[in-house]
Amino acid sequence: MRAGNKLVVRNVGLMLSGKLEQPILDADCIVTLDGKITAIGYEKDLDVSEASQTIDAKGTALSPGLIDSHVHPVIGDYTPRQQQLSWIDSCLHGGVTCMISAGEVHLPGRPKDIVGLKALAIASQRWYENFRPSGVKVIAGAPVIEEGMEEEDFKELAAAGVTLLGEVGLGSVKAGDTAKQMVSWARKYGIQSTIHTGGPSIPGSGLIDKDVVLEADADIIGHINGGHTALPDDQILCLCEQCTRGIEIVHNGNERSGLLAMRAAFDLGQPERVILGTDSPAGSGVQPLGILRMIAMLSSLGDVPAEVAFCFATGNTSRMRELDCGILEIGKAADFIIIDRAQHAPGKDMLDSIHQGNLPGVGMTIIDGEVRSTRSRNTPPAETLPELVE
Ligand SMILES: [Zn+2]
Repeated sequence: MRAGNKLVVRNVGLMLSGKLEQPILDADCIVTLDGKITAIGYEKDLDVSEASQTIDAKGTALSPGLIDSHVHPVIGDYTPRQQQLSWIDSCLHGGVTCMISAGEVHLPGRPKDIVGLKALAIASQRWYENFRPSGVKVIAGAPVIEEGMEEEDFKELAAAGVTLLGEVGLGSVKAGDTAKQMVSWARKYGIQSTIHTGGPSIPGSGLIDKDVVLEADADIIGHINGGHTALPDDQILCLCEQCTRGIEIVHNGNERSGLLAMRAAFDLGQPERVILGTDSPAGSGVQPLGILRMIAMLSSLGDVPAEVAFCFATGNTSRMRELDCGILEIGKAADFIIIDRAQHAPGKDMLDSIHQGNLPGVGMTIIDGEVRSTRSRNTPPAETLPELVE
């Protein structure tokens, strides 16, 4: 009799760990039970019997599911920003299995009074906890802080299950000293914070420069490469050098500035600070392949091995955000993508083709040990697809 829901992925040709200290594991097989990783190694050494489901990866690559560190969801799988349905499902087809809200800012009529913004944050946290679009984990309920909030408000939000602040600076709190006070109240109650960095995103938002970012001291320097408008290069370098907070690079930002920030992190010997987001939905739309595009862009133009660039969107984010996914380790969530070199892509193998600036093809996504999608409808087709064998 089967003890639980056991998944075996065998014949993996390349096991990407998500961990910068060892991005590629010596392993060809991974076993999960009831949605958690129980073994990683060579099939000959593992107990692969009595599996509920077995996947033959056929020599392709397995990576932790990608994490988008910066999204702006509102409700379900609909975004009012671009009047678009199923955008989260589209991102799943781009390899994203977990998303983190930087504020539900696109809600028409978003409440800006304190009781209203708290109610929205708590409701958003609940509706994404209770409903995962296509299985994607959306960590939401990220209030946009406004002038007049007191310590008690942060305590109440935390007690109600809120774990994130929306981008500091998108509301009325734009001064460094007020932001610093509220960020520290949030931190005291276990709420993680992100700050909007750079010029205004859309009419109604404002400039946040390096002095405000440094004074506020949020946990994540949100879109350090702007969303879209980046700060001047000297300010970006100053942010990298003068604090140790997360360096978030987004698709909807300035690519040149993103490369600058990534290089600065390496120069400082702190590549573990680099995490990736799309900052979508936004004025520039939704990017279903945005995280893969960031990996290919940073790897190719930034000349970073592709397996390292994968860590920016998996293990680095997992550790910084204290998630149970994004890393291949026993006990972590069984959230994977199975990928391969795209058909007709140059390069001697998948990693080399990404290092040359090409996207891989997604062949399958798995969340909590369950297959959520097979061949991606959005990526270029993978050369070889995994197969469900039983
Ligand atoms: Zn922003």
